[in-house]
Amino acid sequence: MANILVANIPGFPNPANPEHKIKLNEATVRQALQFSGLNPDMEEASLTAFLNEVQDPASFVDSRTWTAQTRKLAIFWYAVQTLDDSKMTADYDCPHCGKLHSHRYDLRNFAGQFTVIQGKPYREFTFNDELIRVSPLNGEAMENLELARQGMHHPKPKEVLAPEQEDHNRKLLAHIRLRMLVLSVDYPNDLTEDQAERFNRRESKINALTIRQKEAFEAEVWRLQAEMEHGLKMDADETGELYLYVGSHACPNKTTEEGGVLSTALRVPFRHYAAIPVV
Ligand SMILES: [Zn+2]
Repeated sequence: MANILVANIPGFPNPANPEHKIKLNEATVRQALQFSGLNPDMEEASLTAFLNEVQDPASFVDSRTWTAQTRKLAIFWYAVQTLDDSKMTADYDCPHCGKLHSHRYDLRNFAGQFTVIQGKPYREFTFNDELIRVSPLNGEAMENLELARQGMHHPKPKEVLAPEQEDHNRKLLAHIRLRMLVLSVDYPNDLTEDQAERFNRRESKINALTIRQKEAFEAEVWRLQAEMEHGLKMDADETGELYLYVGSHACPNKTTEEGGVLSTALRVPFRHYAAIPVV
């Protein structure tokens, strides 16, 4: 019988708060049994349960309070340290030639590439004489957005959505975009302690803005969010879901008129590269 050693997963600095060292332990069967009951459609809720369970108790901080980026870095880190083979394949439809291509990448190559937030993990600005604080979306916000996304209609392969389903999706997307904005900001001078009440007050303030005010407000919020980028190289889609950038792939079939390379930047959802262990 071979001896399989327990992975000693090295700690890493929380990229949104480098003084906090995150240390994860390899999951046991007992823990993986619990994870088997998690709903695979609720990735953020599952990620919270996973990270809170495998965190080293000595440096435990509720992963709901970590930024979305920190949480994704943590599950990525766990995958890199516990996978026997960290080489992955991303299949994609090429926008240049229309054919299906496969891109090979090694997760390990990204392990040293995460960045740490510059300055404080929040930014402030004044709008309509009120102080606004912008913070990266945290785990709680990501769970909230994920719950909202559950109402979206997703067409099955070769299925076309009915017009009323398309209308429903568009309306829901507008709500989700607005919710992302509400979840990104806080009014530090509002002393209301009840979190649900705070959320409602922020929401009604934003709903009361005119469209032009809201556009200016939103532009400033996203600008400050971009200033606080940290973690792995990732992009959020319009509903806030984060995708890992896994490199560029050159189309083998087509070039530019001058013979130059036509490449595609590839992004994958985190379920593609990092799975929560189950039994
Ligand atoms: Zn191609």
